[in-house]
Amino acid sequence: MLTGITAYAQPSQKEGVHTVVIDAGHGGHDPGNLGTRRYKTTEKDIALLVALKVGGYIQENFKDVTVIYTRSTDVFVDLQERAKIANRAEADLFISIHCDAFTKSSVSGATSLVMGQNHDDDNLRVAMRENSVIYLEENYEEKYEGFDPNNPSSYIAFSVYQGAFMLQSVTFAQKVQDQFRTRVGRKDRGVKQQPLMVTKMAVMPSVLIELGFLTNPTEEDFLNSEKGQSYMASAIYRAFKEYKEEREQFHLEIAPATPPVQTKPTPTPVQPKIGTENKSVEKTPSSEPTIKQVDTKEVYYCVQLATSGIKKELIPQNFKGVEGVRFYEDGGLYKYIVGQTTNLKTAEALKMKMKDAGFKDAFVVALADGNRISISEASKLLE
Ligand SMILES: [Zn+2]
Repeated sequence: MLTGITAYAQPSQKEGVHTVVIDAGHGGHDPGNLGTRRYKTTEKDIALLVALKVGGYIQENFKDVTVIYTRSTDVFVDLQERAKIANRAEADLFISIHCDAFTKSSVSGATSLVMGQNHDDDNLRVAMRENSVIYLEENYEEKYEGFDPNNPSSYIAFSVYQGAFMLQSVTFAQKVQDQFRTRVGRKDRGVKQQPLMVTKMAVMPSVLIELGFLTNPTEEDFLNSEKGQSYMASAIYRAFKEYKEEREQFHLEIAPATPPVQTKPTPTPVQPKIGTENKSVEKTPSSEPTIKQVDTKEVYYCVQLATSGIKKELIPQNFKGVEGVRFYEDGGLYKYIVGQTTNLKTAEALKMKMKDAGFKDAFVVALADGNRISISEASKLLE
């Protein structure tokens, strides 16, 4: 039946690449790196110009793709908000665009970075620079839960949310690097894994592209030129085109023999999209009874144990044997908590117990109506 075949050949909305978030690094009062200082423009300006070009090429050529920018003008957007924009849009791909810098002007080349823990000193160097924007934000301590961008151990302490998307992230990153090398003649510094705040919080395949070194005069000249920006943007566009076509071809080949059943919309704001190849690794639990929303209508303290982009089944095995774990949702992520008390000292004692149980980064949080509030706000409300 010809019509039937045509119907199956349509890649499903969920499996294809239909929404892409393009993230121009830095902006506003955060200039990014300043390069050689021969130009008035800094990293934030080049990142924005290239980001807008990439988005423009995609919109021109793919009518079925929605392009979302984290910023389209010279404004400051914090890292958490960038990831939230992507999570809210349930984007299929997150592309962050930056420029590199180093103390030696001879160093040049383009790098693509994916979230990972397998870092070496060079990766840490980039991670500390790109994440250091956190210092410019208000209340960063509260917001990033003790994350110190200048302390390497902070990076190691973070759990990987990006694991489920690693393969897709690396696939796209490799295509970007291939395009830079073969079509634009750039020095290829390769695909690297590193712990990056902005891509860590996004629950989709995510790549951070360092176009080149603004501290290298030749590369800075190239990246400041209209031609250089267009070449780099079209290289990223071609990588996107290949990636999208392969993703959709892949799903077309493994399309089910029977027409797919329309699934009901899920009540949660973010449904982590996991490629078919990962289904056995990270599965959304089918047994709903163990999933409970946090009891609301109350102000109380509890201890936060872990955060995940994926809804975990609330069984002790998933939480080092700890019973009674629940979750609340925040920024498209699931935050797993335990305990409920109006006494801060009791909460602190529970935190120490949880640290002993193996949750080294456990900390006390306050909730009001299921939403996180600051400890000081909570103590006022509980007086
Ligand atoms: Zn940057």
